[in-house]
This record gives sequence, C-alpha cells and structure tokens, in this order.
Amino acid sequence: MYRVLTNSSKRITGKYGNGHLGVDLGWVGGSGDNVYAHSAGVVVKVVTGKSKDTSSRGDDTYGNYVKIKHSDGYYTLYAHLESVDVKVGEHVEAGQKIGYMGETGNAFGKHLHFEVRNKEDRIVNPTPYLTEDLPEASNKVEYRVHILGGSWLPWVSKVDDTQEGYAGIYGKTIDGIQVRGRRYRAHILGGSWLPVVDKVDDTANGYAGIYGRPIDGIQIYDSQYRAHIKGGKWLPWVSKVDNKASGYAGLYGKNIDGIQIK
Ligand SMILES: [Zn+2]
Repeated sequence: MYRVLTNSSKRITGKYGNGHLGVDLGWVGGSGDNVYAHSAGVVVKVVTGKSKDTSSRGDDTYGNYVKIKHSDGYYTLYAHLESVDVKVGEHVEAGQKIGYMGETGNAFGKHLHFEVRNKEDRIVNPTPYLTEDLPEASNKVEYRVHILGGSWLPWVSKVDDTQEGYAGIYGKTIDGIQVRGRRYRAHILGGSWLPVVDKVDDTANGYAGIYGRPIDGIQIYDSQYRAHIKGGKWLPWVSKVDNKASGYAGLYGKNIDGIQIK
C-alpha cells in the first residue's frame, strides 16, 4: 500500500527517470483518490486555482500542488491535484489528507505526480518512498542562542559535557533561540508563549524570543531537549510539547542560561 494514496490506487503509470522527476500514480476505477501526507511535516508551498494546461512550463506543469518539508530535512511534493486541503505553514501528520487527485497542469489523465527532494531541495528517486520512511541521515539538529545584551553564540550540533555540547554561557541569560530543521517556540519571563517558529533567519519570525526579554521556557517539536537554569542545574530531558509541566523545558520565572537539543 502506498502511503500517499488509499489502497485502491496503487498503479504506477509513469516511472521516475529519463527527465521525469517524480513517479506517477494512476487511479484504478472510481473517480480519483484522496492524497495523503507521506510523513509529518510543515506545508511550505501551496498552489491552487490552476486548470489543465498541457502547454504549461516550469512549475506550472504541476498544476495545483502541495510541497511539505519534513523534520528530517527532506521534502515531498504532490502535483496535478484537483483540490487542496492545507495551507502554507500548517503542520501535517503522516497520513493526513492534504488534497484530492486531479488532472491540473500538464497532465494527461487523472493521476498523482509524487516527488521527493533531499535537504538541498534536489530531486531523488521517490519510488522506494512510496512505502518507506524518508532517510534519517540528515536528522541532525543545529541550534544556537542569543545572549541578553549580547549576540548570537556559535551553532551547536551535539550534546555533551564540553563547551560545544550546549548552547549558552552559564551565568548569562538567554533571550533568543534558533533551531534548524525543527519547529520551536519560547516563553517570555513574566509573559506568555510566543508563536511557533519554523525557520531560521534574520527576520522577527526567524527566531524564538524577543531581544531584551529573558526566556524561561522552550518547546522543541520532534526532539529531546532540556534547559539549564541560571544559577542552577540542568532540568530533566523533555521529549514532547504540551501544556503540562513535562511539555516544556524550563521553569516559569527562572532565567535560562543553557539549552541542549537532540
Ligand atoms: Zn509525473
């Protein structure tokens, strides 16, 4: 059974290769099929409003399509959709319905064109992933913190007892965090949870925190993470995100001066 369609539509009508960047899945009987997210991730691109156009070029050949970024850094793309159920920025679960198979863009007959791209956004052969998980090889997290009244510290990509094994400087309050390849957010001391961030850049939406305001809680999705209390110690590892005491790293009212994520 293919993960991106229901059981009734598992016929490959167009193979990957020879200039064809994806795999085409036709429908067997009926009038089409639901299209499902291959794995959990964040929707990074949605195009709608397209009709069939067999003279289209470039991305227009996809017609209506959805592109999802997954936590391991890979992308999946679903083209020629008749309808789309998701929006950019939306978090989707594996197997969540994201649209309906169609014939939009450069399509001859109703089918799903499915692509897989690596974390450099380069096309890879999607055929094995019709049934398998995406590769875990790139599942490395990189993170860094901003020091109150200071600057961004170097990126950290491991967790151990050395200076390079955590982000922060003991004794220095953190007022910003950035995490590559994850969704994350911060809680402001004396304030509330800020919006979830899913990217890393120089804009206000590219980090979690507010410069000048200490952070006393963090939440990192799809990770194990913990926080070090200023003047205190490392708190227990947290592996989920929810509203309970075990659903964030930190202690409300206490400044954080170190974080670790894996
Ligand atoms: Zn195709």
